[in-house]
Formats: sequence, C-alpha cells, structure tokens
Amino acid sequence: MAVIHELSAVLADQIAAGEVIERPASVVKELVENAIDADSHEIDILVEEAGLKSIEIIDDGSGIEADQLALAFRRHATSKIDDRKDLFRVHSLGFRGEALPSIASIADVEMTTSTGGEGAVIHLAGGKVISQKPAEARRGTDIKVRDLFYNVPARLKYMKSLNTELSKIVDIVNRLAFGHPDIQISLTHNNRELMRTAGRGDLQQVVGSIYGMNKAAKMLPISGSDADFKVSGYVSLPELTRASRSYMTILINGRYIRNFQLSKAIIAGYGSKLMVGRYPVAVVNLEMDPLLVDVNVHPTKQEVRISKEDQLSKLLTVTIRSKLSEQNLIPDGLTNL
Ligand code: ADP
Ligand code: MG
Repeated sequence: MAVIHELSAVLADQIAAGEVIERPASVVKELVENAIDADSHEIDILVEEAGLKSIEIIDDGSGIEADQLALAFRRHATSKIDDRKDLFRVHSLGFRGEALPSIASIADVEMTTSTGGEGAVIHLAGGKVISQKPAEARRGTDIKVRDLFYNVPARLKYMKSLNTELSKIVDIVNRLAFGHPDIQISLTHNNRELMRTAGRGDLQQVVGSIYGMNKAAKMLPISGSDADFKVSGYVSLPELTRASRSYMTILINGRYIRNFQLSKAIIAGYGSKLMVGRYPVAVVNLEMDPLLVDVNVHPTKQEVRISKEDQLSKLLTVTIRSKLSEQNLIPDGLTNL
C-alpha cells in the first residue's frame, strides 16, 4: 500500500515554483514587484544571459530586518496581508508569500538588505539557508539569483532562445515601469543598459523612454470616470498602430493585468479607424476600489476578476472615443456607435 506523507518543504516549494516561476522573466517580475511594494524610488535590474546566468535587483526600499530575513524565504510568509479581510482588499502587488521560497528552491540566491542600520546577507541554495551574516549595506535590498533552474533540468530544456527570454524580460519590465512612473527603473543586459525611466511621475516620459519620444508624441492623454472607476493614461492617434495587441498595457491599481474584454474595449474606442489586424499603442490605468477586483485567481496575478466589467468596458470605450473625436479624426457618422 502507498503510504501518505507530507512533502518536504523544499519539494513543496519546487512544486509551487513551477506555477509562479515559468521563466527568467517571472523572477524579474516577482522581484521588481517586491521592490515596488517596499516603496523604492529607484530600482536597477541587472541581467546576464537573459537571466539564466544571473538576475540582480537593487532597490532603495524599506529593507528587511535581519531577524526576519530567513522567514521571508519561507512559504506563505508575507508582511503584506494579515487576515481574510485583507485578501479582498489587496493594495500591494504581492501577498501570497510564494516568490522568495519558490525562487530559492530552483536557484542560488543571495540577498543583502538593510532597513537603515546594520544590514545582513543571506545565502540560500536549493531552498536551504546556507548562511546568514551581518553586512555593510545602505538602506534597501540587493538580491542576486544565479543559475536559475539548475536543479530543474526539464524546465531548463523548455527555455526558448536567449533572445526570446530576454524579450519577455524587457516586456515585463516595460509594463512594471508604465505602472510606476514615479519610480526610476533601469534594465541592463550583459552590461548594456537597455532602458531607464526618469522616475519623475510623468507617464508620457515613461512611454517615451520605452517606445521612443516620436511615438510618445503621437499619443493622447485620456481621462474619464464614473461612480466606480477612474480611467487615465495615453492612447495612440489612429495613425500609430501595431500589428500586435501587445502594445496595449492595462493596469489596475498599478498592477499589470491581461484581460481580453478590456483590450477589446480599448480597440472599440477607435471605431472603424483601425485597419483589420492593426492595434493601437496604449497605456491605460484603471483605478477602482480593491474590493471590485479579485487578484487571487492565478499565482502570477496577471489574470483578475473584475466586478462590473461591462460598466468598466463601456467607460473605457467612451473615454477613448471622445478623446479621439476631439481630434476630429472620427467622421461624424461613426461617433455614435
Ligand atoms: P509577498 O511579496 O507575496 O509578500 P515574497 O516571497 O515575494 O512574498 O516576499 C516575502 C516578504 O519578504 C515580503 O512580504 C516582504 O516583507 C519581504 N521582501 C521581499 N523582497 C523585499 C524587498 N525588495 N524589500 C523589502 N522587503 C522585501
Ligand atoms: Mg512578492
């Protein structure tokens, strides 16, 4: 007879890691989100060999107290929510307490951190703490993740080319930057700086530093609201389109999400101004009471459930359509769709 037994913590972390950490870009996402949650003003992301060799994230955020450092790497350990009530009002990007233990179970991890005074450095490999020592450090956190998937050869084999993995990293960093124009974010690959935002709180500047100033100049600010939702951001003039939907970024309360209906609502705002197979460039912020959005649908938190999604979609479409019609670009007969 098979004997029922609990899995070891390390094995359980590796299983969870399979859901949260699909590829190097997932590590970047989780660690940058942690830096954002720690109220950082500046976040530097340094990547080698598309993240498979190393990923380092340096922030100037709150840091972690030395006596809590090992705990931060334990499963379901989080400082961000306390009870059931908080789960329905998530204000932070993280809350599941899964990223650090997941990453540590499939890579070699070193984190140096300080809350202002004396700092500490912890080293983990294969999910186990190897050492923790006091360390000289300025306020903030510096985490290095090396040899990702070294103990999960099946996952390593599944990786696409370095170029593809790097492009996924660039994509997620761009979207995190769109959600946080007030944070200076830089991305460096193999010692070459690929992007840097100014951190001045100016979304159009961020769009410019990512898509180029000439494109940013062809984007219009939008704003609209109703009793439940607030819409803001930038959308391209109908003359600036792309062959892919991936130049549309939707953020809910600063979190990048994917949502087919909301993407369709953006496109609908253009009416018949878009040619078939062409999509606008857009960065759209949607603000709402956290009670209206359930982010606990999927481990990566990019899929969400929104209450009153139809109402929100309509607001989004109308906001974009009225902005574009101000530009006199939509002939009269088409505006009352
Ligand atoms: P979660 O983000 O869901 O809480 P994580 O495993 O990503 O879970 O992180 C665990 C905890 O470690 C966080 O709740 C936070 O308290 C702390 N932490 C992680 N990264 C940082 C960081 N860069 N700066 C400050 N604290 C951090
Ligand atoms: Mg986290």
